[in-house]
Amino acid sequence: MNMNCKMVTDIAELYYDNSLSPETKKAIRSHLRGCQKCREYYRQYQAVRKQNTRPAVQILSEEETSEIEKKLWTGISEKMRRRRFWNIVGTSAAIGAGSVMLTIGLLLTYNQKDHSVE
Ligand SMILES: [Zn+2]
Repeated sequence: MNMNCKMVTDIAELYYDNSLSPETKKAIRSHLRGCQKCREYYRQYQAVRKQNTRPAVQILSEEETSEIEKKLWTGISEKMRRRRFWNIVGTSAAIGAGSVMLTIGLLLTYNQKDHSVE
């Protein structure tokens, strides 16, 4: 079974939690070997998860996991993947603080532009 990058990143958290079937795990491992982009994504994902002792997702039952795998092969939306990824990132205090500062910076820039127009 061949996996594309979207599939791999969609289920990175399940792979990390070791809640995938051996067949799927094998497919991910072989994709990661050949894809630098996904290796980097997974490396970052691992780093974020290591900072959070609590699992990012509830422990899923076997039925739920196979349901997710079924959906995976038919494609999980990009939006869902992003939301889940950023939820995890959001729980990391260090990265969270960084994005708050970035947001404030962007708001200040926006306000300055806004005033110069008036
Ligand atoms: Zn890839």
